Amino acid sequence: MSNTLHIVGGGMAGSEAAWQAAHMGVEVVLHEMRPKVETFAHRTGDLAEMVCSNSFRSDDDEQNAVGLLHWEMRAANGLIMQMADRHRLPAGGALAVDRDPFAQSVTAALTSHPNISVSYEEITALPENGHWIIATGPLTSDALSRAIAAETGAEALAFFDAIAPIVYFDSIDMSRAWMQSRYDKGDTEEERTAYLNCPMDKAQYEAFIDALLAADKTEFREGETAQYFDGCLPIEVMAERGRETLRHGPMKPVGLTNPHAPDVKPWAVVQLRRDNALGTLYNIVGFQTKMKYGAQADVLRMIPGLEQAQFARLGGIHRNTFLNSPTLLTADMRLRSRPHIRFAGQITGVEGYVESAAMGLLAGRLAAAEILGRSLPEVPQDSAMGALIHHITGGAEAKTFQPMNVNFGLFRPVDGLKGGRRGRRDRYKAYTDRAKEAWQGWLSHSSLDGTQSS
Ligand SMILES: Cc1cc2nc3c(=O)[nH]c(=O)nc-3n(C[C@H](O)[C@H](O)[C@H](O)COP(=O)(O)OP(=O)(O)OC[C@H]3O[C@@H](n4cnc5c(N)ncnc54)[C@H](O)[C@@H]3O)c2cc1C
Repeated sequence: MSNTLHIVGGGMAGSEAAWQAAHMGVEVVLHEMRPKVETFAHRTGDLAEMVCSNSFRSDDDEQNAVGLLHWEMRAANGLIMQMADRHRLPAGGALAVDRDPFAQSVTAALTSHPNISVSYEEITALPENGHWIIATGPLTSDALSRAIAAETGAEALAFFDAIAPIVYFDSIDMSRAWMQSRYDKGDTEEERTAYLNCPMDKAQYEAFIDALLAADKTEFREGETAQYFDGCLPIEVMAERGRETLRHGPMKPVGLTNPHAPDVKPWAVVQLRRDNALGTLYNIVGFQTKMKYGAQADVLRMIPGLEQAQFARLGGIHRNTFLNSPTLLTADMRLRSRPHIRFAGQITGVEGYVESAAMGLLAGRLAAAEILGRSLPEVPQDSAMGALIHHITGGAEAKTFQPMNVNFGLFRPVDGLKGGRRGRRDRYKAYTDRAKEAWQGWLSHSSLDGTQSS
């Protein structure tokens, strides 16, 4: 078999994967369809184009999970971070980037690398053999999407994400909320208490509907048609159809008894469901929304029990091609049915420039190590990289899998630390200290010069 690594898609993930593999001494062909074939969001033919905002979000590597991911990528000689730092714009604690020079610098670094050649073409089928990484992103071309769906089964490839907001469990006020499945359904105690319920009286419900109707919403973009809405209407669209619609839909108050006030029948109930195996994250069931982020947090904090809610991610509805990775990918990012193909980037069900580049970094290293006949230790789950990859390839609920940002809810708890809001600073510092140590350990065991392979 050829020892060349083929990478499809020269976005955040593909660019980083190519850089990492080439730096390890592997020949790389990077296949990018732009500028010959365009997407509705990209404007240029540059590699690593930022399609929307120019922010890599928080750069705080002690108190923020995405800042920690920056740190881990910098420690691993990441090209995306190197160029982001070079073209940094003033933005307080955030890492904002001058987008055109950034993408041009990434392009120059890759095209001038002796181990990399860029082939400007669309790949339309899944390769039969060789070493491949597919990193074609949320706007994977139609032909390749069809080929992937034919391989994985159409139900395992989504074309939109309709994300319900995700809340940190320890920010929910359990003196108002309670755990119960409707009609106590389920064979085990765990199933009978699978949902977290937040009750509303009539006045609270009416005020909530008013706020929903008044909230700022994001407009749909070209290519984000409404046909997919059949099964997942945004809550504000439901509210526009009638003030009672939500009370007969995701907020119906039936089959539930509030143990804090057993004699009072709630007028409406908002339900949350566990979103990860650790039980640190809960998603608000049926609450996909196009409300703008600021408005969304304000409206959702009107829900009794969520007044102090901290959101691991807010809701959204976007065009987004992504795999059901918990069922389809192995822990080292291979497609189970065709292990010579790895996936990386947003198509694996991470969300965001930084997370996508991070998954590219891992895929590039894993694929290169395989070509070089080296085995790498498992990516440590306590690093930000490891927490994210562990979530998408196993920790997340496969049935409700939706794209995920990196956040501390994905991290295993650190023993002996206080929960709740008061302990948060210490907890986050403990997570980031532990992560850095774990990540440095992994890097030292997978060093690029091949002398320390395990
Ligand atoms: C409209 C929109 C707005 C977004 N806004 C933000 C934002 O503000 N902040 C944020 O963090 N994230 C945002 N995202 C998510 C963002 O796309 C990802 O975070 C990130 O760019 C994904 O990186 P990626 O490498 O997986 O995909 P991309 O960066 O999209 O790269 C994929 C590459 O694959 C190429 N490609 C596709 N199909 C083929 C094929 N068959 N053959 C060859 N090449 C192919 C594409 O041309 C593209 O260059 C947005 C996404 C969309 C769609």
